[in-house]
Amino acid sequence: MSNEKTIFERIIDGEIPSYTVYEDETTYAFLDANPLAPGHTLVIPKEPYERVNDMPPELVGDVFSVAGEIATAVERAVDAPATTLAINNGEEAGQEVPHVHLHVVPQFEDGDSRPIHTLFDGADLADEEMEEIAESIRSNQ
Ligand code: AMP
Repeated sequence: MSNEKTIFERIIDGEIPSYTVYEDETTYAFLDANPLAPGHTLVIPKEPYERVNDMPPELVGDVFSVAGEIATAVERAVDAPATTLAINNGEEAGQEVPHVHLHVVPQFEDGDSRPIHTLFDGADLADEEMEEIAESIRSNQ
């Protein structure tokens, strides 16, 4: 964590205006300033961890627990049947603000759903490669 405040800390501290929708001791939620859909909300930990990997597990739990509640509230507010919950976890994944934020983006019954699978080309892997990767993930925990 750097010493300089992130833009989201400045929002929490009231230095930058926001459409705040929720706040508790450890988390904060507000409307995204460039909404991908009406109701697009960001849920953040108040402490400015850069990546989910850096966060203590209890705080990850807090953020996801609030995200579930916010997803329900957003769906009701904008009459959406579903939401996409996503985190760009690291710069190479497209993360622009180095303070963990979970996007809650409503999706509508417009016949044009956008699963996260549309973001990737897909990887065609042989069984041995799958096993090798799984083993490597297991041994890196
Ligand atoms: P990401 O690309 O995952 O890092 O997303 C950063 C998000 O923060 C973008 O969707 C921005 O629209 C949003 N954002 C940046 N500045 C603000 C702000 N001042 N208030 C609300 N949302 C913001």
